Amino acid sequence: MPLTHRSTLTQFLIEERRRFPGASGDFNALILDVALACKAIARAVALGELGGAMGNHAAETGGSVNVQGETQKKLDVLSNEVFIRRTEWAGNLAGMASEEMELPYQIPQQYPRGKYLLVFDPLDGSSNIDVNVCVGSIFSVLRAPKDAVDSGRDLTEADFLQPGHSQVAAGYAVYGPTTLLVLTVGDGVNGFTLDPNLGEFMLTHPKMQIPKETQEFAINASNARFWQAPVKRYVDECLAGQTGPRGKDFNMRWIASLVAEAHRILMRGGVFMYPRDNKDTAKPGRLRLLYEANPIGMIIEQAGGRASTGEVPMLDVQPSSLHQRIGLVFGSRHEVERIERYHAEPETAELSNPLFAERSLFMN
Ligand code: MN
Ligand code: MN
Repeated sequence: MPLTHRSTLTQFLIEERRRFPGASGDFNALILDVALACKAIARAVALGELGGAMGNHAAETGGSVNVQGETQKKLDVLSNEVFIRRTEWAGNLAGMASEEMELPYQIPQQYPRGKYLLVFDPLDGSSNIDVNVCVGSIFSVLRAPKDAVDSGRDLTEADFLQPGHSQVAAGYAVYGPTTLLVLTVGDGVNGFTLDPNLGEFMLTHPKMQIPKETQEFAINASNARFWQAPVKRYVDECLAGQTGPRGKDFNMRWIASLVAEAHRILMRGGVFMYPRDNKDTAKPGRLRLLYEANPIGMIIEQAGGRASTGEVPMLDVQPSSLHQRIGLVFGSRHEVERIERYHAEPETAELSNPLFAERSLFMN
């Protein structure tokens, strides 16, 4: 379609801002800086081996490990650097936090400080990078506490511990066959495809909506023996297919890249589960609340879906630490509500009793 028929990301943001006559341009400028960071990362990812940025970070010294205990790829470190450098200078941010940095990042003294916080996973799914599978970036925008904005003081971890419903905006970029930026500023979800010739994100997926019903679920089945009873029940019922309590066949998907899973579900429905399990009871889940579960949760809910810990709405969770992990279930609303219902029901031996298993037929 010719350029004359599409909005650019810039145009979209300016038109959105007209709804708030008092708004300064800071927010739009921040989103455009993040979008530029994503374009740069898309470029590095697309060049692959040719860009010289594949493999583990500091491989010659045995590699380095981030605060999560994960091996850092060169592209993790590069993407983190790109996010920082593209956004720190403009005076829109009071500070940042990233998956790749243990502590909050302070805006250097030579730059003005602003009123927003940027929290990000600069390269999600990076363990997939060497096999050329989809990766992405995830980001969340919060307001800095007023006293921090007024005083320009350094930020503490506590400044970032805001529940998901406080997010001003959330988005992700997915670096797949095409590069897409999916964004919510709290008024629905819109998707922008990168035109590599113009270097512009063009609005191609206005007002994205997740289908309410689905026949696809995504879970890492190698953890099945550690699942809690409600999750096991849900998956068992999906696997039972046409002749089971659900009365229809399901497909299973697993990309092991959160952004790619979220994008698939946004486009065609489905449910994703990385629930809290009994594998290591010290760990309350696998994915990170502030820069994975909350931004993805906001996008999913803004698109008419639902995001949950399995027990409570994700966006209501009060964070307790910067790199907190949490169980994450999201996708088509009815499926997530069903999983929450299974968690709410008392756990008893009835689940394995075929008489009671039929009960679910009457509860639908
Ligand atoms: Mn990630
Ligand atoms: Mn990452």
